[in-house]
Amino acid sequence: MKEEKLAVLGGEPVIPAGSIPAETADRLFRKMILTDEAKAAAMQVIEAGSFSFTDITEKFQEEFAAWQGTKYAIAYCNGTMSLTAAMFAIGLGEGDEIICPTKTYWGSVSQALNFGASAVFCNINDMLSMDPGDLERCITPRTKAIMVVHYLAYPCDMDPIMEIARRHGLKVIEDVSHAQGGLYKGKKLGTFGDVAAMSLMSTKSLACGELGVLVTDSREIYERAMAFGHYERNNANYITECDDLKPYFHIALGGVKGRANQVCTAIARDQLKHYDERCREIRRAMNYFWDQLEGLPGIRPIRVDESTGSNMAGFYEPHGAYYPDELHGLSVKRFAEAVRAENGGHCYEGANFCLHTHPLFKTFDLTHCGTPSRIRYNDRDVREDDRLCDPSLEKYCFSVPRFNYLDKDVIDRYAAGYRKVIENHRQLLESDAKEAQGGRWYGSENQ
Ligand SMILES: *Cc1c(COP(=O)(O)O)cnc(C)c1O
Repeated sequence: MKEEKLAVLGGEPVIPAGSIPAETADRLFRKMILTDEAKAAAMQVIEAGSFSFTDITEKFQEEFAAWQGTKYAIAYCNGTMSLTAAMFAIGLGEGDEIICPTKTYWGSVSQALNFGASAVFCNINDMLSMDPGDLERCITPRTKAIMVVHYLAYPCDMDPIMEIARRHGLKVIEDVSHAQGGLYKGKKLGTFGDVAAMSLMSTKSLACGELGVLVTDSREIYERAMAFGHYERNNANYITECDDLKPYFHIALGGVKGRANQVCTAIARDQLKHYDERCREIRRAMNYFWDQLEGLPGIRPIRVDESTGSNMAGFYEPHGAYYPDELHGLSVKRFAEAVRAENGGHCYEGANFCLHTHPLFKTFDLTHCGTPSRIRYNDRDVREDDRLCDPSLEKYCFSVPRFNYLDKDVIDRYAAGYRKVIENHRQLLESDAKEAQGGRWYGSENQ
């Protein structure tokens, strides 16, 4: 192994600026790819002025349910709303607790406060995935449900999670926003729990604009979710079995308007046709990329062994796990900085910050009742999170590029940037400020 000066210290970068043609980079990394048919379908909605109708949305829902393998699918204006509807549909209410992994986007669980319920944060494992071994600690007599998040497309370990949920009589909601179409042991994510909901917004793997979908096999959940956010379909055509809902037709029961914009559902119908094929190609490329880095100290791919029948769907925001001890304590922040200097900016540390660290879950009083909303109905000491979930902060991680297709020459170059930093990491030890390991509240300037 020859010593090479790292670019962050003034050496030659592995991928000098401009050495990958702009069109190649666009094809390789573009998140939302639209066919001419998708653009024409969107244009038709615009020209017809049918943004707010539901005819195209109804067709999309049928096609989505068939693809997902569930009896029902309902489209929403975004993923957060679809997850909110799922919470209403399972009956989440005042004083209930819902368990959620601490490392996820806020839209997985913050809405629980709107129902007078409380989020309880569960720890994660090295793959940044809900740790089933920490679930039972989180269960109390108030626990109503578990929010399972297939974070960064890594399928959660559903066998033990479902076993624990059944044993304690808990509902299970799956947040599939990162892993649409992914598999756990041959079975589609989003078909394990009572209901699943997901975002199809424009940077997600299944990118359709601003859109969400809820899927379920339960007629009751379908009807309740429909009535929650769809005033125009809260009527006898849709609500046939839930007698308790029948006095309340024509107004959305959540006091929210969840209807999808048909520009997005028109695009989504076309995206769905190409999605599985695109994901297969992404998996070929990403598995090839990770194979090139196999065996290096300090990093492990966050991916599943596909021979188990599981897969990583479209490798949404792919990350690696980071083990500083194997690199003489080099901080992941300095590691990522060094990789960015080699490859033109494709490596960030941290992913989402852990939710339990946000003041929303410590002190925020949504309804001005004088108590932080999260602990209004329980005697939880929120400082416990820092003790019991703090190990989550030690699960260091860094991002890697997501390649849309297998181009071995280009992928080899990106892999070489990571390899160079690892093989020459000693050069960084002196300049390492050992700063906080980082993460992001997406939408802020620290993105
Ligand atoms: C994006 C996302 C959501 C929310 O979806 P929106 O469509 O942005 O409202 C929920 N959960 C997770 C895990 C997400 O990444």
